[in-house]
Amino acid sequence: AKTTPAPVKITPMMQQYLEIKAQHQDAILFYRLGDFYEMFFDDAVTASKVLGITLTSRNSKDDENRVPLCGIPYHAVSSYLAKMIKAGFKVAICEQVEDPKEAKGIVRREVVRVVTPGLVTDEQLLDDKDNRYLAAICQKGKNWGLSLLDLSTGEFLVSEKEDLAGLLDELVRLGPSEILLPEEPGEASILADQLLAFLPQSCLTRRSPSVFYPEMARQRLLEHFRVANLAGFGCEELKSGIAAAGALLLYLQETQKTALDHIERLTPIEFDNVLLMDESSRRNLELTQTITGGAREGSLLDTLDLCETPMGARLLKKNLLFPLQEVETIRQRLNTVEALYLAPRLREDLRQLLAKVYDLERLNGRVVLGTANGRDLTALKCSLAQLPQLKEKMLEEGGPLLPALGASLDELTELHALLEAGIREDAPVTVREGNLIKPGYHAELDELVSLLRDGKELILTLEARERARTGINNLKIGFNKIFGYYIEISRGQLANVPEDFIRKQTLVNAERFITPELKEFEEKVTGAQEKRLELEYRLFSAIRTTVAESSSRILLTAARLAQIDFFCCLAEGAQKYRYTKPVINSGEAIIIKEGRHPVIERALPPGRFVPNDIHLDQESEEVLIITGPNMAGKSTVLRQTALITLMAQMGSFVPAASAEIGVVDRIFTRVGASDNLRRGQSTFMVEMNETANILNNATQRSLVILDEIGRGTSTFDGLSIAWAVAEELVNKNGRGVKTIFATHYHELTELAATNPRVKNHNIAVREWNDTIIFLHKLLPGGTNRSYGIQVAALAGVPAKVVARAKELLHNIEQGEFNRQGEPRIATSPRKNKPRQGGQLSLFGAGETQAARRLRDINPDTLSPREALDLLYELKGLS
Ligand code: ADP
Repeated sequence: AKTTPAPVKITPMMQQYLEIKAQHQDAILFYRLGDFYEMFFDDAVTASKVLGITLTSRNSKDDENRVPLCGIPYHAVSSYLAKMIKAGFKVAICEQVEDPKEAKGIVRREVVRVVTPGLVTDEQLLDDKDNRYLAAICQKGKNWGLSLLDLSTGEFLVSEKEDLAGLLDELVRLGPSEILLPEEPGEASILADQLLAFLPQSCLTRRSPSVFYPEMARQRLLEHFRVANLAGFGCEELKSGIAAAGALLLYLQETQKTALDHIERLTPIEFDNVLLMDESSRRNLELTQTITGGAREGSLLDTLDLCETPMGARLLKKNLLFPLQEVETIRQRLNTVEALYLAPRLREDLRQLLAKVYDLERLNGRVVLGTANGRDLTALKCSLAQLPQLKEKMLEEGGPLLPALGASLDELTELHALLEAGIREDAPVTVREGNLIKPGYHAELDELVSLLRDGKELILTLEARERARTGINNLKIGFNKIFGYYIEISRGQLANVPEDFIRKQTLVNAERFITPELKEFEEKVTGAQEKRLELEYRLFSAIRTTVAESSSRILLTAARLAQIDFFCCLAEGAQKYRYTKPVINSGEAIIIKEGRHPVIERALPPGRFVPNDIHLDQESEEVLIITGPNMAGKSTVLRQTALITLMAQMGSFVPAASAEIGVVDRIFTRVGASDNLRRGQSTFMVEMNETANILNNATQRSLVILDEIGRGTSTFDGLSIAWAVAEELVNKNGRGVKTIFATHYHELTELAATNPRVKNHNIAVREWNDTIIFLHKLLPGGTNRSYGIQVAALAGVPAKVVARAKELLHNIEQGEFNRQGEPRIATSPRKNKPRQGGQLSLFGAGETQAARRLRDINPDTLSPREALDLLYELKGLS
């Protein structure tokens, strides 16, 4: 039930609360009241559940006017905030914006920022190896515009495409936490559905269509960047993209209410020069997370990530998701990796230095947003301290790219000096409680500090003097917040209290007094304490502002460090896992010698992974058909080929003895197990969707990986589809598409007989007694055995069932079916049938006379008349 505000007895505070809440209907309002944030009404009910805190109420005696309420201590706000955001809520943080002591009437309060899933800068909520993006998407004209922003680092991206599906692929690749979209019926709700299907975790925020108006959006961007046009960013032409970016910026301005100076450029996302992959291919290849469970552990990213800094790790992820197509750029990256690979000492030195660098991008973000504390600035200082040495090392050697990077590395010396001089290393988390600024930084502060320190001595002196004067040995001077300084005299000594002591407070065993001298001292000291806190905060803020002014230089340095870290990481991996430098060219062949699967090989004991060769080229080996029993390693060989290609195009060494990669423009995968069921489509439908996508979009430069296609339907349907798909891929665009096709339909191996560019391979198994041993070795030639029953036995299917299956199989192989299609039990097995497939064959068991006749004719040699006669003949046969 909705709790409505009480009609009567609205206090001024409640009045203020309701006014502020009215501005933030879609957020939970954290309303600051002294040392607490309070929530009221429905917010309180929701928050108490999410946060697991007690729900109480105001006016609890008066049932009518009960106001549900709950509260959290202000110093613990970040962990509560984290919980709310994780649960998918937005939180508006409302602070007291004037000193309660100076307030006339009710203290002024304002919402100082709104935290939403896409706009998080709190450390507790951020995963340092991931960007946290807020996205906006809209359609203007025929193009869809997309913009993404990471508030914590200031990265701001824009792009547009005519094809929504393609744009969504890119969007999913970057995995935003929150997406802004225009609230419009019709079109937009279809969009919302699609977004939710692809990104079920992310929060959709609908905004008025007016915030997406291109002209206003553009104006907003021009004002923010203080530029006359957007041509300098290379995105003047992106009308829809700009609409999305402008909507994003407005949302930011509305929610953050602080400087956004660290967002200093708009970067168009380049789709043209990257190796494209659709969402399902990325998932299938487990690039950044595993298919089952979605864990980072076990993904390619996890395997490759030996980065020392969060910036490096984020760059690695980006480069992995956006591999390149340009031969020259890829070679340049590879050369840099090679240089570091060949210089292990230098690499080690660099990595040790990088390990001491904190997350510069995010530290900078907090500095600009004004939320950085003393510890953040110290972390920044320690990071900057590594720069001179890093620069020196980079200039040392290490290929052409590294010295160039080094030469352009801004050491930010004066910033480091400022932080070194100003900020105390032991500064607390809070910025209002002093102990932030180093002695010697500011004369007035030093004076106040010494006054306060001397104050303690003064008290001791005073205490000693009063003891001597009164003769009361246990007289002591104390302090508490309510009464300030006092002299405490135990009850037994009260007779000795001198006249000038003024009674202040009576306790059970003692009395407390003050003296004029003590009072005077107190005023001086408490004044000093307040002044000190105020001054320290002012000095700290000034330093923070100075740092914020260098934001763009810090970001540039951070970007350089990310690159070095990325290269060191790849070089380190190359050495650690025995990868080799691939040869990249613009040809159309992929030739891998002794390739390995980078993730699976690591899960096995060293040396146990069986390497395999793959040869794909336009002339003789365009489509590889790989057969072999389940568990033989078909998927593994398929995936490793895709992964090696992708790694090479990212600029990484690869798990192979050697690899020659003609750059591919897209990698398509279609892999058996489907994780798309949550999108509410049948497995078979998904499979066919993906297949259609491949057939429509694969070019002669693409690499296609098909695993067990056609499994989701009946055998004959499936085989026919698989066959037709394979044929199409051999002939597509007149040249064909590089394809590896894993299948358990042995019939497909017959394709090789008629198509010179199709080659058969199988994965070897050895039969041993009644079981099989997997050799995982890819060999030329097809196979005609499935070993399904042996695999079933290995999997622990009961012996009785296995035996029965063998019996049935035997009968199927004899071609003996009864009407229901169930094999009859044969009495005398015929030996050496020509086709001993463990599968139903298209042309085997049930072959009719008509079919046999058909097989024997050659249509090219028939005259029209003969053909017609043949038709009559066939009709008679059927
Ligand atoms: P399939 O696709 O033929 O059913 P998979 O490729 O899924 O088989 O491989 C099954 C398992 O066999 C893998 O999980 C892995 O443990 C092992 N395997 C596959 N290929 C190799 C290999 N080349 N060397 C060693 N083990 C392998």
